[in-house]
Amino acid sequence: MDDRRPDPGREPPEGCEFFAVMDEGWRAGGSSSHRCRYMLNGRSCGAPSVARFNRPRHLKTGIRPTWWHYCADHMYGRWVENGVVMTWHVRDIEPSR
Ligand SMILES: [Zn+2]
Repeated sequence: MDDRRPDPGREPPEGCEFFAVMDEGWRAGGSSSHRCRYMLNGRSCGAPSVARFNRPRHLKTGIRPTWWHYCADHMYGRWVENGVVMTWHVRDIEPSR
């Protein structure tokens, strides 16, 4: 397993394994003008962002994309790899033949 990848933090279900996939809902690339909005003790983290997550707002006029920024520590188990945001998915272990 790649050392840069965070531990999934849990055991996979019986007969399954974790595998890394790109998370389409996130975009890598922070900006110094955007700060992590993860809440800690009632205050936002405030560290410079490294990635953003599209949490669309549903308005009367339609759906407006809204990007929420996060630092590397607060990506909910995701990480940036080769310029994209990755996450863990679970799949069945292929029977060996
Ligand atoms: Zn943060």
